[in-house]
Amino acid sequence: MTTTPTPMMVQYLALKAEAADCLLFYRMGDFFELFFDDAKIASAVLDIALTARGEHGGEKVAMCGVPVHAATAYLQRLIKAGHRVAIAEQTESPEAARKARGSKALVNRAIVRVVTAGTLTEEALLDSRADNWCVAIGEAAGGVALAAADVSTGRFEIVELPRHALGAELARLAAAEVVAAETSEHADAATTLRPRADFDSTAAEARLKRLYGVATLDGFGELSRAAVAAAGGLVAYLDHAAKGDVPFLRPPRLARAAETMAIDAATRESLEITCTAAGQRKGSLLDAVDRTVTGAGARLLASDLGAPLMDAEAIGARLALVGFLHDDAGLRDGLRASLRALPDIGRAIGRLAAGRGSPRDLGQLRAGLDGAWQLGERLSALGDAPPLLADLAPQLRGHGELIDLLKRALVPMPPIDAGDGGYIAPGYDAALDELRDTGAGGRRAIAQLEAEMRTQTGIAAIKVRHNNVLGYHVEVPARSADALMRPDSGFTHRQTLAGVVRFNTPALHDLASRVTQAGAHALAAEAAHLEELTAAALDRRLAIAATADALARLDVAAANAERAAEGGWCRPALVDEACFAVEGGRHPVVEAAVAKSGGRFVANDCRLSETSRLWLVTGPNMGGKSTFLRQNALIAVLAQAGCYVPATSATLGLVDRLFSRVGASDNLARGRSTFMVEMVETAAILAQATPRSFVILDEVGRGTSTYDGLAIAWAVVEAIHEDNRCRCLFATHYHELTRLAERCDALSLHHVRAREWKGELVLLHELADGPADRSYGLAVARLAGMPPATVARAKAVLAKLEAGRAKTGGLAAGLDDLPLFAAAAQAEEETCDAIRAEVEALDVDALTPREALETLYRLKSLA
Ligand code: ADP
Repeated sequence: MTTTPTPMMVQYLALKAEAADCLLFYRMGDFFELFFDDAKIASAVLDIALTARGEHGGEKVAMCGVPVHAATAYLQRLIKAGHRVAIAEQTESPEAARKARGSKALVNRAIVRVVTAGTLTEEALLDSRADNWCVAIGEAAGGVALAAADVSTGRFEIVELPRHALGAELARLAAAEVVAAETSEHADAATTLRPRADFDSTAAEARLKRLYGVATLDGFGELSRAAVAAAGGLVAYLDHAAKGDVPFLRPPRLARAAETMAIDAATRESLEITCTAAGQRKGSLLDAVDRTVTGAGARLLASDLGAPLMDAEAIGARLALVGFLHDDAGLRDGLRASLRALPDIGRAIGRLAAGRGSPRDLGQLRAGLDGAWQLGERLSALGDAPPLLADLAPQLRGHGELIDLLKRALVPMPPIDAGDGGYIAPGYDAALDELRDTGAGGRRAIAQLEAEMRTQTGIAAIKVRHNNVLGYHVEVPARSADALMRPDSGFTHRQTLAGVVRFNTPALHDLASRVTQAGAHALAAEAAHLEELTAAALDRRLAIAATADALARLDVAAANAERAAEGGWCRPALVDEACFAVEGGRHPVVEAAVAKSGGRFVANDCRLSETSRLWLVTGPNMGGKSTFLRQNALIAVLAQAGCYVPATSATLGLVDRLFSRVGASDNLARGRSTFMVEMVETAAILAQATPRSFVILDEVGRGTSTYDGLAIAWAVVEAIHEDNRCRCLFATHYHELTRLAERCDALSLHHVRAREWKGELVLLHELADGPADRSYGLAVARLAGMPPATVARAKAVLAKLEAGRAKTGGLAAGLDDLPLFAAAAQAEEETCDAIRAEVEALDVDALTPREALETLYRLKSLA
């Protein structure tokens, strides 16, 4: 049996159709209700009761609901679980609906906002120490580009990049949400798909011009069609989510891939720069370095480490400021104490701009801008400040009028909720003060009236009360009510409850109207002021965002100085040659872990140069090879991010691309054939590493059989040495590779030291020159607790194998007469040329069958 759907259901289904990819929060009074599958999903994620309401199409309609006042917490959990939520609000009051369309009229509703992970501005929904990027992928004219916006602060970046770098860039941004055209080939299951038309570059250009009120986009730099498509597609999406109200976006900053060190996704993951392989901040480089005291500082440091610079001058400017603050502990402490007290003005202005601001956000701006001003004064007064500080200090000031206005206009602690008023300071608006006086006077008169009633009626318990239904009224205990019930008493009966009876009087009514009216007018006046003050703040939003940036930069510099002082770190020197000289280098994360378990980290040197580009590091398992490799890669990241580095001295040639690969067996957690992954990633290095790159390879070749593995490792070392000619640290347990030192002149041998002492293996974690004298594999097995009988048996097997190796020349037997990689390649080329010459010289029609056969034999012998 089918029944006609109720009008409410018709309205619901129409709204749901508008937001098919979202859970629909449907406002009903004090609740947001969810229906059908939405209800099932939400009740499971939120662990709330699933009920039913009415029928639709002959079936019960599943339903659940969340109270409006607690909706934020529920939203947070749904967004975290990967859902999008569309909010349908009542757009008129029930009274207005009744007046307009009769007593049974349905209240109009509309979707006012789509809440998604990438479009949040609410403090409660965001991590204060992490950026929240929404990224759009644009494709046009054969190119790709990314546009990234953090609407909580208005940051907006456009990145033009080659197609192969897309994954690396997405990994850097760690986007909360990725948006692409529904036809994009770069979309995956988690991508938010939008209509293709939104990404059309012509429409996109018009949209951007409209948004910024400009006649041409030239002012933003030379944007490719793909960049325009990405930016326009992103703006269209933000517009869609905010239902026609594009949130605060600063003019886009065009970032070029060449301005930063290229770090691909696999390297980022392997080095655990901003999060660990398990996706956690704890245990990452960022976590070990971060001493920032503000959310904005923490966000900027994460972004710095994620995108180390390539411009020696810019790096030098950051380092000079860190150095200045490093050397002056008093200044640093004072600065950090001031910064710690400042609210997050970047996010406050973001909320105000998104129309979700509150009086408290204005209060935060007042405190933040005032604090920034004072800091600016102090910093400007410093003698021989480094240039970056001289640039930053003026950006901290310049909001004098706004600060003044907010100081005069707002009470000391403005509330989050504007609904009850009380945030505009007395003395700011004489008319408001008068309304408040009238209200207060009325309330005093009511109190007086109450006293008069008490004497007049002789009822000691008589009280004037207020509630939302009756407004002001007189309340007496039921036993005293009789006298007031008489028609000539002057009291009008309103309500009888168990125990009390309520009345009104003309005098009370007059006073109450005065109070209520004054209150309503005062609220309206305050709301008007809130609007003006918000507009005044938004007028300056770009300047405020710049101040927020300057504060964050100061916080990062002071934090880096603090970290350096704490750990005895040094200022790296960046030079224009392919060297990498680190003395006393340490791994900040491993060092902290070692210190925690009572150990001492052993510092090690690294001295790569143009004539010693490739270090082959051997030594026992657990000896510290990986740690050594990674610490040097991390030192490169830190140095180019403008941080001091954990070493006693460091002179580094700029690194254009950083690569880190770990042999397959450490990566078992991944789904794909791990050896395949290892080879794909290694292939990428051979294809992309330049003489200015820095590569660490840890046990590459381990993911396959011994012979295959050794052969691959051998060929990779040769290729890197001969072709890529980049700086490289290569850790391996293939002892045989050490033979390469004889033929590769820029390759040198190193090992992590170990010693056997009283039959026990002692790992010294100390790097020494030359190859390891032996592999210590069995000693490591014993160290790991392998049963003695098994170790003894392994010893016997080893003796046999080694005897065999001595006879045949070992695993690497015969490799000595293998031509070098380049020579081999050249020989190959010469052969091809010879064959080509023969074939070109042939006159096929003139050959007898016998001659043809002979020619074939000759060609075959050439190949
Ligand atoms: P390998 O790559 O040679 O197997 P790792 O670099 O993984 O060895 O190091 C194994 C462990 O040794 C680390 O987890 C750490 O506890 C310790 N270690 C490594 N390097 C050092 C060092 N320089 N000083 C002190 N301990 C170290």
